Order: sequence, then structure tokens, then C-alpha cells
Amino acid sequence: MPTNVMEWGFVLIFFILPGSIGAYVAYTKGRNPFLWLLLNGLFAPTVMITLFQRPLRPVQGHYRQCPKCSEFSKWRETSCRFCGTGLS
Ligand SMILES: [Zn+2]
Repeated sequence: MPTNVMEWGFVLIFFILPGSIGAYVAYTKGRNPFLWLLLNGLFAPTVMITLFQRPLRPVQGHYRQCPKCSEFSKWRETSCRFCGTGLS
């Protein structure tokens, strides 16, 4: 266990921070936040995988799925960025 402030800072930056970011991003992409919390927390570079992977399903407030080409677009976008179909 960490014994002083420096060690806690180290743990925070290299494990807790990437773990939390990974868990949140995974959640917004419809993936398992606990799995990615563990993975990103144990090995921080895997946060890059979490950030760049495609959403698994549409998530309210984060991603919409195009009804025509089934690609995902950001929630705030009004038309599909792949085929231009209007999203609602
Ligand atoms: Zn589309």
C-alpha cells in the first residue's frame, strides 16, 4: 500500500486516473465500464484503445446509430457523418 503523498500521487496518475477515464468513455460507448476500468487502471496505454474503439450500441446523450448505414455518430450531430441521413 502507498505510504506517502508522492506514492498516492503516482497511484492516482498511473492507475486511478486512466481507470476512471477509461470506465467513463467505455460507458459512453455502450461497453462494460468495469472491464475497462480494470484494464485501463492496470495498464494505462490501453486508454487509447478505449478512446478510439467504435461504440457497441447507441447510448442516450452520447452516440446515435444511423438507421440507413448503421454507423455511429455523436449525439449532437443532426445528420449521419457517413451517408448524410438525417438523425433524430
Ligand atoms: Zn448513415
